[in-house]
Amino acid sequence: MSRDYYIAGNWKMHKTRSEAAELAKALVTQLKDGKHKYLVAPTFTAIETVAAIVKGTNIRLGAQNCAAEEQGAHTGEVSVLQLKDLGVQTVILGHSERRHVYKEDDALINKKVKLALQHGFEVILCVGELLAEREAGKAEAVCETQTVKGLEGVSAADLSRVVIAYEPVWAIGTGKTATPEDADAIHAYVRKVIGKLYGADAAAKIIIQYGGSVKADNAAQLMAKENIDGALVGGAALKADTFVPIAKFG
Ligand code: PEP
Repeated sequence: MSRDYYIAGNWKMHKTRSEAAELAKALVTQLKDGKHKYLVAPTFTAIETVAAIVKGTNIRLGAQNCAAEEQGAHTGEVSVLQLKDLGVQTVILGHSERRHVYKEDDALINKKVKLALQHGFEVILCVGELLAEREAGKAEAVCETQTVKGLEGVSAADLSRVVIAYEPVWAIGTGKTATPEDADAIHAYVRKVIGKLYGADAAAKIIIQYGGSVKADNAAQLMAKENIDGALVGGAALKADTFVPIAKFG
């Protein structure tokens, strides 16, 4: 089955509104003839600015996180209702920085996944092992647990709005990329896990992005692999010069 490639840029905690606007405008111009599916996920404070620029273009608008509750006494959190109000279409959840720096566990991530899906968002659920877990031969098991627990209670219908991003933690922001073969092996395994949970058709359809030091010079080799359907890009997403060649690979 052929799946569409999906290239997403996670801008993390970078850029003021004017810097974000400058990048978004450059991407709108340079990706307007791009063949793949695209997304940018600005920091919360720049979402409204970027929303006005990407509206009506082929670039989707993402957020990097959301609260697990719709509203209430949750100081410092941002809710799905507020994201919807800004025109956000996709929420990235379970990013390794959320898991390992901010100690979000699978149960919390699952709550967010379900809430975001319930509110009509597309969800990019990130999974991936630490270096020590890879070295201990646990990469598949870690990704399986994060996938199964992250999707607990998600219906087959809602799964059509879920994208998985396999991001080995040791490859994020380090300049170390998984080899296309190693990445593809985990993607194939996660696809098998989806097959066990939702059946062969859902497994064949689900988009699985790779993330971890994706650059213009390794994007095409990664994307050539059967089970790699796109990329979640961090560092290289911060400049049009480095993101556009990834977004236009192939
Ligand atoms: C990420 O943070 O999702 C990521 C993949 O970052 P980088 O591309 O910088 O490794």
